[in-house]
Amino acid sequence: MPAPANLHTTAPSNAPYDHHARAHPLHFACHAQALRVICHLMKSVPLFSLLQIRVRADAGAALLIVLLAVSFSRTGATGAALGAALGVGILICLLVHELGHAIAVRSLGFGGSTITLSMFGGVCSWHANPTPAQRIVVAVAGPAATALCAGACFVLARAVMPSYAGAILTQLTQLNLLWLAFNLLPVLPLDGGTIVHSLLLMRLPEPRASLVGHGISFLFATGAAVAAWYYKASSMAVVMLALLAWRSIQYFQHARRSSSPPEELPP
Ligand SMILES: [Zn+2]
Repeated sequence: MPAPANLHTTAPSNAPYDHHARAHPLHFACHAQALRVICHLMKSVPLFSLLQIRVRADAGAALLIVLLAVSFSRTGATGAALGAALGVGILICLLVHELGHAIAVRSLGFGGSTITLSMFGGVCSWHANPTPAQRIVVAVAGPAATALCAGACFVLARAVMPSYAGAILTQLTQLNLLWLAFNLLPVLPLDGGTIVHSLLLMRLPEPRASLVGHGISFLFATGAAVAAWYYKASSMAVVMLALLAWRSIQYFQHARRSSSPPEELPP
């Protein structure tokens, strides 16, 4: 799959800056013709709006709840209800993470933003042309919100244990900690990768900052994918990390082409 032609290392002022858009595996997959139909089916619908933050969800979010309900239903109706509750809990935790980004965006004076929830994560997009320092503030806010969410789930789980709610909250605590570690990997476009790239932008001109950033991203994504496979982590984690490694090398090659001097014309 070729690298997108409209690659922006910093957001153009007239286009939305999708903080997590490029983190979403389906986002870059959408550039492939074969997956356009799937992406169309995943069109999001508005849920609610609060303090200029619009929250939407696509079909993947509903599918997540259904899939968890079905996979838990082997133990009966109670299991199905618990699976559905876990799915809703996961979406709420994803929303908390994206709200962290959205609140940081608002605090920086960029105004409103749109959060879209999906099966594999969330997207927070807004119209702005942030400086590297501002990008770092927004990137840090998401994991900070997830850390708070993990803490809240842990405290609530201990308060209501032993119960079904306690079991779900314990699962959510573990998932939040996993997402926190995953998001902080220095892999673009995850939050950790965005922080590293923004730090590079403070020191290096473009496209060199992107070249180094995507190089680091490729090395870490490949290493993490190999480690996940070796330690028999979930196959979904291996696939996601492999996709991120593949994406990083595509963007690395794009940045390298942009940084190479133009060929001299023959005399
Ligand atoms: Zn994030």
